[in-house]
Amino acid sequence: MVEECLFCRIASGEIRSDVIYQDDEFFAFRDINPQAPTHVLIIPITHVDSLNEISDQQENLMGRMVIIAKKLAEKEGIAKSGYRLVLNCGSEGGQVVPHLHLHLIGGRKLNGKIG
Ligand code: 5GP
Ligand code: ZN
Repeated sequence: MVEECLFCRIASGEIRSDVIYQDDEFFAFRDINPQAPTHVLIIPITHVDSLNEISDQQENLMGRMVIIAKKLAEKEGIAKSGYRLVLNCGSEGGQVVPHLHLHLIGGRKLNGKIG
C-alpha cells in the first residue's frame, strides 16, 4: 500500500467508498462522479501507477481485471444493453489518479467512440 495514494486508501477501507466487489487481489467501487448510471472503477489492490508499469508477467492480472469487469456488467444488468471499459494511461490519456484502474461505464447510450 502506498500511503499517499487515494485508491490504495480506498482499497484498504481507510477512505469510504461504495464497494461492489472485493477479492484477495481486486477491489471495485462506484465512481464518485459517475458519467453514466453505472460507473464502476476496478483496481488491483497492489499498487501499480499505470498500465506503463505492468510487466509481461502480469498479463494474468490484466486478464482477471477484464473478467471481473465483465461479471460486474452482468451483475449491474448492462451486459446485454452494452457498456464500455476505459483504461486511461498518463496525462494525455486522461489518467488523473495514479493507481491503475479500469472504468466500467454503462446504463445509457454512450456518446462518441474514442478520444
Ligand atoms: P481517471 O481520470 O484517473 O481515469 O479516473 C479517476 C476516477 O476516479 C474519476 O472518474 C473520478 O471521478 C474518480 N474518483 C476520484 N476521486 C474519487 C474518490 O475519492 N472516490 C471515488 N469513488 N471515486 C473517485
Ligand atoms: Zn495505490
